[in-house]
Amino acid sequence: MKHQFEKLIGETKGFLDPAEGQRLYTVALEASRLGPCLEIGSYCGKSALYLGSACRQNGQVLYSIDHHRGSEEQQPGEAYFDPDLFDDRRGLIDTLPFLRRTLAQADLEETVVPLVCSSQVAAKSWATPLALVFIDGGHAFETAWQDYLCWSGHLQPGGYLLIHDIFGDPTKGGQAPYDVYKRAQASDLYETLDMTGTLGVLRRRADGETGAAV
Ligand code: MG
Repeated sequence: MKHQFEKLIGETKGFLDPAEGQRLYTVALEASRLGPCLEIGSYCGKSALYLGSACRQNGQVLYSIDHHRGSEEQQPGEAYFDPDLFDDRRGLIDTLPFLRRTLAQADLEETVVPLVCSSQVAAKSWATPLALVFIDGGHAFETAWQDYLCWSGHLQPGGYLLIHDIFGDPTKGGQAPYDVYKRAQASDLYETLDMTGTLGVLRRRADGETGAAV
């Protein structure tokens, strides 16, 4: 079973270090005891394998949002364009078939709820408290910031806010996720936990908890 999972991880396209994936799993296992989890940026389902497996163990669901048309840097001519994901008939990126295949192969179709739209559209009438929000969508500042504004308010006390692709050194990567992470920290609403690789982990304070110990 473990071997099968690792094989599937290896075969699934994505930009997630195994140690980061393992951390997603560990945090989601804790979080999904409290309530449902949500990720922004499904892509081909690599992070959903980790988050979804943890949710399944607790009988919870993972909402996984993606318009599946690729982020800014995944378009033709850009640095992260992958021709396998290009739908020639439509002339557009389409990662949804890859996500569906990943979820079917991992037996996660009863656990992961794909939402095929932008994160702002999905958030419009959202009212369900969340135990974990993983921001891993577009890397333009406005996109990442909107994802934070749309979803962080739905975190229940004690819930986890995770942000991927945090690079403190601007020569190593774009600064938008790092900026959002810094702003979240500055809000004093979260306790900062250890990072794993480029994965930032914050925990929403319960009412009355103060940030004095940071
Ligand atoms: Mg990422």
